[in-house]
Amino acid sequence: MLSRSLGIIALSSGAVLIALPIDAQKHDSQQTARLPAATVSVGPTTRMLLIAPHPDDEVLAAGGLLQHLRAARGALRVVYLTDGEGYREGVQAEEHVRAPTVSDYRAYGHQREHEARAALRLLGFGAGSITFLGFPNGGLSRMMTKYWSERRRAYRSPYTKLDRPSKSEILVPDTEFRGEDLSEELAQIIDDFSPTVIVVPRKEDQHADHCAAWFFLADALGDVRRAHPDFDVDLLNYIIHYYSWPFEDDAPRIPPPEGLSGGVSGWLNVPLSAAERKTKREVLALYKSQMDVMGWFLNGFARRNEWFSRPAPPHVALPLRRSPCDAF
Ligand SMILES: [Zn+2]
Repeated sequence: MLSRSLGIIALSSGAVLIALPIDAQKHDSQQTARLPAATVSVGPTTRMLLIAPHPDDEVLAAGGLLQHLRAARGALRVVYLTDGEGYREGVQAEEHVRAPTVSDYRAYGHQREHEARAALRLLGFGAGSITFLGFPNGGLSRMMTKYWSERRRAYRSPYTKLDRPSKSEILVPDTEFRGEDLSEELAQIIDDFSPTVIVVPRKEDQHADHCAAWFFLADALGDVRRAHPDFDVDLLNYIIHYYSWPFEDDAPRIPPPEGLSGGVSGWLNVPLSAAERKTKREVLALYKSQMDVMGWFLNGFARRNEWFSRPAPPHVALPLRRSPCDAF
C-alpha cells in the first residue's frame, strides 16, 4: 500500500500532470524535480496513441490520463484492435439469446463500437481520434504464430465467421486476419500519426488479446524504426487482467500489481481528482454491454489513481514459434 503522498509538479510550460514513481518518492522534492524521465506528463504537444485490444480498455486503463490529455489540448488516437465481439456471456445478455449466432456476435461488436464512440465523445474526443481495425476478438495470439503470413489461409473468427476486417476498417489494401497484416497497419498508423507517446498493454496482461497487443505494437515499432532510425517515442504500458488485481481490496487508491515490476522507470501513478473519478464512472457507464454483465469489474478501475510503467526498449520480431500469450 502507498502510505506517502505523491509528488506532483505543475509546469508553467503547459504540461498539466507529473506523476512520480514510488521509487522517486524516496528522494526529496529537489531531487525528484531532476528526474524528468520518470514521469507521465501530457501537454499541448503530446500526441498520444493508445492501443486498446477491446472497447473499454482505454477507459479502464487511462480514463483519468485521457482527461488530463484533453485538458492539456493534446492530440489522441485510440486504436481498437478488435470490436470485442467474441464475449459469449456478454452477447447472451445483450442479444437475449442462449446460443448466439454469427449475426448476434456481429451485432454485439457493432454495439461495442458505438459505445466506444460515445465514451470518447464524452471525454471530449471526436470521431477523428478513433480507429477500429476490426481484427478478431480472441484470435490475436494465434496471429503471432500460426496465422502470421499468407503462406497459409487467414484466421477465421469462430464467432463472426469472418477472415478479414470489414471494408471500412481496412487501412492497408488486402488486409486479412494475418499477423503480418496487423503489424503493417499498426506501423502505418504510427507513421501517419507520429505519436510522442504510445500507451499499450504490457505483455504480462493475462488476457491473450492484451498480451498479443504488446507484441504486435513492438513488432510494428521495430518496422517503423528500421525505416526511421531517429523515431523516438515514450512507451507506456498498462495492465488490466492480472490475477485478482486490483480487487484484493476496495481501498480508494489502487496499489500496483503485487509481484510485477514497474519497468525501467518504476510504477507511475496518475492521480484522479474527485471530478475526474466521477467522469470516469460516467464514461464507463456508457459501456452498457459491459456494465450489464461485469459492472463491478469496470467500476473497480474508477478509483483515485491509474498505474503505468515503462518497458525496457523492446526487441520483438514476429512471428513467434509459440505464443507467450497462451499460457494464462
Ligand atoms: Zn480488453
